[in-house]
Amino acid sequence: MSSLVQCQKFKNLRLVSIALTLLLHITITPAFSQSVNDIGLTSEEQEYLAQKKVLRVCVDPDRLPFDGVDENGNHDGLSKDVFQIFARMLNVKMVVPKVEDWNDLMVKAKNRDCDVVSQINASEERKKFLDFTTPYFYLPLAVVTRYDRIFVEESLQGAGTRFAVIKDDIANDKLRKRYPKINLVEVKNNIEAMKMVYDGEVFGYIGAQGAVAFAIQALDLDKLAVTGSLPLRYELSVASRNDEPLLGTALEKAVLAIDPKEAQSIRDKWIAIAIEKVTDYTLLWQTLMVLGTILAVSLYWNRRLTRANHEIRETLKKLHTARAQLEEQNLLLKEQAITDPLTGLYNRLKLDEDIAHEVNRAQRSRSEFSIILLDIDHFKCVNDTYGHLIGDQALKEFSTLLKNNLRASDILGRWGGEEFLIICPDSNLDGCQKLAEQLRAKISAHPFPKVGTLTASFGVAAHIPGEKANTIISRADTALYAAKHQGRNQVELG
Ligand code: GH3
Ligand code: MG
Ligand code: MG
Repeated sequence: MSSLVQCQKFKNLRLVSIALTLLLHITITPAFSQSVNDIGLTSEEQEYLAQKKVLRVCVDPDRLPFDGVDENGNHDGLSKDVFQIFARMLNVKMVVPKVEDWNDLMVKAKNRDCDVVSQINASEERKKFLDFTTPYFYLPLAVVTRYDRIFVEESLQGAGTRFAVIKDDIANDKLRKRYPKINLVEVKNNIEAMKMVYDGEVFGYIGAQGAVAFAIQALDLDKLAVTGSLPLRYELSVASRNDEPLLGTALEKAVLAIDPKEAQSIRDKWIAIAIEKVTDYTLLWQTLMVLGTILAVSLYWNRRLTRANHEIRETLKKLHTARAQLEEQNLLLKEQAITDPLTGLYNRLKLDEDIAHEVNRAQRSRSEFSIILLDIDHFKCVNDTYGHLIGDQALKEFSTLLKNNLRASDILGRWGGEEFLIICPDSNLDGCQKLAEQLRAKISAHPFPKVGTLTASFGVAAHIPGEKANTIISRADTALYAAKHQGRNQVELG
């Protein structure tokens, strides 16, 4: 039983999607006739064959679909059909002796246990005991690798890349001759070779194209594929024992006489094997890896950018908040800078600014303004009598009273101590005097908590065109002094 048949357990013939009719280089030598009389046998040859009656045809059991033996030990494969034609042409019966493997076949051929070898490459060594016909088909050498490998012919030049070949295969000599540094690992048969490829023990297996594809399929080694072919080929002849030369010459005539059409149909029948078209997935994987890397990098950067954007937004938010707080604080500080802390009125600083502003405005637009300087009468007595805190309360109450009795356009501030300044924009001396009078009356009529009645003295002055701030204040101050001098709780004009 052949090794291939023994390995039937591995057979799980997969449905290969792409079935190509292969064997581009296989040719069967043409002929024109199949009749015993027409192939040109000599009478000696005819006589020889008539006496012989039965030819023992030795067949390589491991070379389907080209050459093989079925489970019952009968001739199988392409050579079977060819030999049926030969049998008809030569008018002989053919039997197939049991052969274990190719080595066994060679031993049997040497021992004359075979009359004929069905498919064999000629070699000088073999010519010592065999006659060879013209080759009747040619079979290129193919390389089987894992489907994702790329075979390049350079890898046959040694450098550590190992290839399995079948021991004593005629192809081995051809390979060594053409590629002197080739690293070959000799194995028993193609099953062993392909398993080594499958397991990664060797890079590839070199064998006959078609035969290897057939075996890949038969063994269901789905990771293997024919990934290369070589410029070398088997040239398969019929060989016959050379001690009976009439057999060789008769077979030569038979080989030459095969009808090309019939040869074609035999080829189609046996070589219509399914071979998976080899796709270079490496490029696809490389492309996918590059795209994957680009995608990963862009995703990574995208995430980093998103995070950075988020951080920037957060920072901006904090910045906005900080700026708002700062503005608020600035406003507060500005407010504080111009506010008297006890009374909440404008302070001296602000009043100085405002008077300067009014002086400028009056100069620019010839507008008029007036001021009132007022001082609480005998305030020292309040402090002395009720204490400083009550004095403070009284100052606050006094301030509120003033504020509540002024126009929106009037500017009120604490000039210092118990002294206040009122700027009355767009007011003349007369209007401002009336306001001072009203205030004086209000104050003197107001009951201050704990303190009781308070009065104040007023100095009023209207701005004279061209007059500086100091001067108008000085005039108001003089008027105030006069009011004090004249008995307090009264308004004097400056
Ligand atoms: P006159 O009628 O002449 O103005 O008499 P007067 O007592 O009001 O004037 P004087 O200048 O002698 O005294 C002013 C007093 O005002 C003295 C001071 O203690 C008091 N004073 C000034 N600023 C404050 C303050 O912020 N709080 C309190 N409680 N008292 C103040
Ligand atoms: Mg005073
Ligand atoms: Mg006073």
